[in-house]
Amino acid sequence: MAEHLTRLELDEWLSGLDASGRAERHVAACPACGVLAEQMRQARESSLREPRAKAVLARLEEKRARSAKPRWSWGVPWVAALAVGLALVVYVPRGTEDGVRLKGTVALRLLSAQGAPVADARPGERVTLAVGTGTYRNVLVLAVDEAGAVDQLWPQDGPTSGTVEPGAEVKLSPPMEVTPGSVALHAFFADAPLNVEQARAALTSSVAEAREKRQAPLDVAPPGDIGKAQARTLLRVMP
Ligand SMILES: [Zn+2]
Repeated sequence: MAEHLTRLELDEWLSGLDASGRAERHVAACPACGVLAEQMRQARESSLREPRAKAVLARLEEKRARSAKPRWSWGVPWVAALAVGLALVVYVPRGTEDGVRLKGTVALRLLSAQGAPVADARPGERVTLAVGTGTYRNVLVLAVDEAGAVDQLWPQDGPTSGTVEPGAEVKLSPPMEVTPGSVALHAFFADAPLNVEQARAALTSSVAEAREKRQAPLDVAPPGDIGKAQARTLLRVMP
């Protein structure tokens, strides 16, 4: 029998994130892991029945119902996805004996052709976007320039976010060529595909709001209602 599964691996399997089928095969063959998996599944279910979870879900539903023109058309699956996220959040303290949990940790950085982190670049240089994907499969990266214009960076085109491997640092190809002018890069992470135009519109209105507060477009915080996690980095482009 191979080594037992960690709680993190079991948690990922229960979240439907183990595409390899390894965890499922192990649980089927290993009574000890089977018992633990069942306990964890029950804990997830009961955490969703807790009053706190109910209150949060009720507030989300209420908020959704209140907005006359819903910005998001994800409807029920959106709430279901949040419910799963909530179960994981409630569960985290019990899993800490497995050490550092990277679940839910997202990141965005730029790498040189040699793989070194890049913060400054010159026009014409090539850089690669890299994202820490946390538990998410769907990523969209937008860029805000000094004038406040919002552009789609990754995927390069198409109406929705791209898919990535969860739980890894993923290089988003192809590398991009640096153009004149610094840019703030915003990565949005989600369990379901993100609509590029909706995200672009939300970020554009964040830029407009910031401008009213005399804040520079490069300093704008990502809108919190796009996706389930966001990461941001700045690329300073030297003249
Ligand atoms: Zn086992």
